[in-house]
Amino acid sequence: MIIGITGTPGTGKTSACALIRGVLDLNGLIKDEGLHRGVDVGRGSLIADMDVVYDRIREIAEDRDEDIVIEGHLSHYVCDVAIVLRLSPGELVRRLEGRGYRGAKISENVEAEVIDVILVEAVEWCGRDRVYEIDTTGETVEEVAETIRVVLDAIGRGIAVEGHEPGSVDWMDGALPHDFFTKNRVKTALRVGASDVLLRK
Ligand code: ADP
Ligand code: MN
Repeated sequence: MIIGITGTPGTGKTSACALIRGVLDLNGLIKDEGLHRGVDVGRGSLIADMDVVYDRIREIAEDRDEDIVIEGHLSHYVCDVAIVLRLSPGELVRRLEGRGYRGAKISENVEAEVIDVILVEAVEWCGRDRVYEIDTTGETVEEVAETIRVVLDAIGRGIAVEGHEPGSVDWMDGALPHDFFTKNRVKTALRVGASDVLLRK
């Protein structure tokens, strides 16, 4: 089994995973092994070749003959079970400003966090029973790492972890009238790619 720790850039994946033994850095692997299709010149970033990455991750898991944990904002595309780190949008803005990101890159990431882009993608790729959310807002790096360990342990033992199911984190809470969705008979559905993914009943 491959477990991916994912989340919008800046949510603290690399910092927390540095405290957890044996987590594989997916972005590093992609760069080191050249698992990409070139550079997106506008963004100045590599275009990962996810088919190749998928095969390579499976190969590593087979060689090691055990569950592996990978970390990176693309990991939900190649894992069986995803843990999505979440961070309140306000805190995320401060973090990304601290990293010296450009305004456009900050708003792109913060908007993605607000509308649950990575969560929705993770549910789409892994299935909602194989996705866990962790709200890291106000948590120290050590506290985040400890919560990840608890979730990893539960996944490993095949037991439920309450309070971390998809939909447990919601930055839109309070941003709309409380009866907005029921009144309009709308389910929280986001359109990603070609398919609709329902997040909550
Ligand atoms: P990611 O790998 O998800 O992009 P990083 O771990 O690189 O995120 O963290 C982004 C920034 O936020 C870094 O400057 C890091 O020091 C800081 N950071 C990470 N986790 C925390 C935390 N729990 N509390 C405060 N700052 C954090
Ligand atoms: Mn990182």
